[in-house]
Amino acid sequence: MKYKRILLKLSGEALMGEKSYGIDPNRLQQYTQEIRKVKDMGVEIAIVIGGGNIFRGVQAEKSGIDRVQGDYMGMLATLINAMALQSALEQGGMYTRLMSGIKIESVCEPFIRRRAIRHLEKGRIVIFGAGIGNPYFTTDSTASLRAIEVEAEVVLKGTRVDGVYTADPEKDPTATKYQTISFQEVYEKNLSVMDMTAFTLCQENNLPIIVFDMNKDGNLSKLVQGEKIGTLITS
Ligand code: UDP
Repeated sequence: MKYKRILLKLSGEALMGEKSYGIDPNRLQQYTQEIRKVKDMGVEIAIVIGGGNIFRGVQAEKSGIDRVQGDYMGMLATLINAMALQSALEQGGMYTRLMSGIKIESVCEPFIRRRAIRHLEKGRIVIFGAGIGNPYFTTDSTASLRAIEVEAEVVLKGTRVDGVYTADPEKDPTATKYQTISFQEVYEKNLSVMDMTAFTLCQENNLPIIVFDMNKDGNLSKLVQGEKIGTLITS
């Protein structure tokens, strides 16, 4: 096994699958199976899930909702996804804990770093919901920060693109994929991997990021075993 403890970042948008809003049950099932494979290998798993399939803070401004209020709404959206994922994982036979960046005590535990580490050591999958708990951040920043806090060895950013490209592959057919790239190069070439806050946190703490296609069966387990899937970003 290449990694003992990972932080998996799933976007809310990916959870939408073929739908235009909300949660696609097939996608949720697929994620559950992929996570199960890695769990069975004995890997400790922390998960951060986004909320873009339900609500984004920036979109609030257009509808006359204050930005900060919108961000809190976005955080609650991530919690809805996190609860769905928690339920699916438990139905799949895994032990989980949901920890929230905002206190919602009847639903989940508040985030307490030492407790999160303890859960991981005990083999529970820890899902971090409600982002960092502060407006003007993203779930990518949450992924970087929580990964550092719980001492994960890598951030695995599952997307629908299979890595980092020289240009947007959906727009430019000549774009090629990097197998590995340094933090510095991503910065100099202005490639989009994560938002700057999230990216800088990883860079300054020497935390590698792997961008990969989470929708392809087997990718997550291959990655954990050290196969070169997606794009690895290191110092
Ligand atoms: N958000 C926030 N602080 C955080 C995490 C998230 O304010 O620490 C809000 C923000 O408005 C964001 C929304 O929650 O737009 C949903 O998260 P994100 O856009 O990162 O989800 P994804 O794109 O991964 O689905």
